[in-house]
Amino acid sequence: MKEFFPFSDKIKNASALALEKTKEQFAEIEKIKEYNQQKILAAFMHNNVCEADFSETTGYGYGDRGREKLDAIYAEAFGAEDAIVRHSFTCGTHTLAIALYGILRPNDTMLCVTGTPYDTIHGVIGLTGEGMGSLKDFGVNYAQVDLDKNGRPDLAAIEKALEIKPKMVYIQRSRGYSLRPSLSVDEIGEIASLVKSKCDAVVMVDNCYGEFVETREPTEVGADIIAGSLIKNAGGALARTGGYIAGRKDLVELCSYRATTPGLGKEVGCTLGENRNMFMGIFNAPIVVSEALKTAVFSAALFEDLGFKVTPASNESRHDIIQALCLETPERLIKFCQGIQSGAPVDSFVVPEPWDMPGYDSKVIMAAGAFIMGSSIELSADAPLREPYAVWMQGGINFPSAKVAVMLAAENLGIK
Ligand SMILES: *Cc1c(COP(=O)(O)O)cnc(C)c1O
Repeated sequence: MKEFFPFSDKIKNASALALEKTKEQFAEIEKIKEYNQQKILAAFMHNNVCEADFSETTGYGYGDRGREKLDAIYAEAFGAEDAIVRHSFTCGTHTLAIALYGILRPNDTMLCVTGTPYDTIHGVIGLTGEGMGSLKDFGVNYAQVDLDKNGRPDLAAIEKALEIKPKMVYIQRSRGYSLRPSLSVDEIGEIASLVKSKCDAVVMVDNCYGEFVETREPTEVGADIIAGSLIKNAGGALARTGGYIAGRKDLVELCSYRATTPGLGKEVGCTLGENRNMFMGIFNAPIVVSEALKTAVFSAALFEDLGFKVTPASNESRHDIIQALCLETPERLIKFCQGIQSGAPVDSFVVPEPWDMPGYDSKVIMAAGAFIMGSSIELSADAPLREPYAVWMQGGINFPSAKVAVMLAAENLGIK
């Protein structure tokens, strides 16, 4: 057979070893994939999906049956009462913001119990910026419970904080771009139970990067509302843009009034030509997520073999698709990202460079060669050039291809 990529013996051997080491994890990933795929197939059948559901509506989009069935499929997949899935939700941040503005009212308190939330949510809450119409500008208060020293939710501190009677308890499932562990669905369930035993706060989960990594979703263990992006896990790398909100029917309705207007809610919103991609995307999501997970686990094992600290470790159970690799020097971060880019199906000839990205206090380098701009269910890597000199990578729509990119990145480090 022809060797398309002439890897060094060092990288070939380390990769073979890594594959050997990840057998058990891969078997577990296969099991979860199979279960989730059946769950999605059943949801498609229960909703009588048919060709007509893919056809395009324009203008107001009244009575778009495809749109309504897609909402119902998401609700069923997430074990929720209802959902709203729209290509017009521009990104994860926008979708989360719609849910927050939909549910919170002046003088309410939003209590985040998983430390500082994801960067782009800061402006929504009003931690940064002024006069842009943040929740704070509208009189919504914010409080936070930090994670404990192991990066775990601090249940005792959360219980105490509930005394302020928050309207909403906010949980971020994924590690985002930090080195804290991601939350398991079980852990989210524990927090939700604690909250429900003390008050009637709405439990909201930022579910970005978490969908279909486990067999259950936060809405099945007590979360009242969850939201995420369609160019991450749930869109299965086929949705071209968009987001979803799923959860309690009354809350989804409130979100729909924010998404469109009070009164119109879910009744409007033409789907243009996006339905087919969104249906196919959620249908394929369990498989695509499993490929991304294999890519993450393989990378962890490979870089462990090469002597680096990685988190999560190759044998740890996973709750999101993110893999952090501590490469220790800025030079290695740059080489790694350039290697990942060189193995992309799109823009493989481009050489990424660190740049001063707005909103960051250090230079950042990013690798992404994707069919959909900014899609991070496709293999991508980001590294701020600062301590602890770690790169965060995620995605990979098929493992054989993503594996080559990871091996090219490893090769590019020039480790003897
Ligand atoms: C990606 C992400 C977001 C925001 O999503 P965008 O699509 O980038 O706006 C929010 N929270 C978490 C945990 C994320 O991973």
